[in-house]
Amino acid sequence: MIHFNHVSLKYDNKTTALRDINLHVESGEFVFIVGASGAGKSSIIKLLLRERVASGGSVTVNGINVSRLRQRQIPYYRRKLGVVFQDFRLIPEMTVYDNVAFSLRVTDTSNKFIRNRVPYILNLMGLAHKAKSYPNEISGGEQQRVALARALVNDPPIIIADEPTGNIDPELSYEIVELLQGINQCGTTVLMVTHEQEMVRRFGGRIVTIDSGQVVFDDVVPPDGRLAGVI
Ligand code: ADP
Repeated sequence: MIHFNHVSLKYDNKTTALRDINLHVESGEFVFIVGASGAGKSSIIKLLLRERVASGGSVTVNGINVSRLRQRQIPYYRRKLGVVFQDFRLIPEMTVYDNVAFSLRVTDTSNKFIRNRVPYILNLMGLAHKAKSYPNEISGGEQQRVALARALVNDPPIIIADEPTGNIDPELSYEIVELLQGINQCGTTVLMVTHEQEMVRRFGGRIVTIDSGQVVFDDVVPPDGRLAGVI
């Protein structure tokens, strides 16, 4: 589903952020991408979202060669990806309901579908009672659940979460990962970038470690596994 083949990325033809990355994620997998600050994690996300184009190698998502997308195709491509960011990126002037509905309104979705789908997803995320609240009236954990609801509402085959727990309390972070795992169990492929080693250790699963722009570890580890020296 996601294939990085010998991918490199240079910024300004100077900084090499990624070198010879080979990463293959199959449909239905849950993958943690971990690494220290500056390792290259965000660069991987930027390539997936086509915010940057690989300097070498190929990035294929769902059979699409991402580097070859034309400018006008990019918005359609991105709609197939559910993305969750560290800073939530909710629209402050919109209620929780409208923040989620907005993702559907920008496409040609019927009002009838929206009226059914949005409450369903809010309910799934435990947010039904917050539908009329504004982002500044709810907690960080709840804001991230709204962001998750917004990412999910289009039923994307892939969810990309970029440090989704970076701005929320540790206890609530676990809740977000558990929600992502629940989404994954329903068949959605999930790629979660994080630098929170302790949390990744606790959950286990497939862990890909990036260091200085390279994949230095890629394996499945048990929950609470010993990972000394790995992440
Ligand atoms: P991480 O997300 O793991 O913190 P990044 O992918 O952001 O790492 O960065 C990888 C490397 O690329 C770092 O050396 C960083 O300084 C560099 N880098 C990131 N963005 C840019 C940019 N826009 N211009 C130049 N260098 C960049």
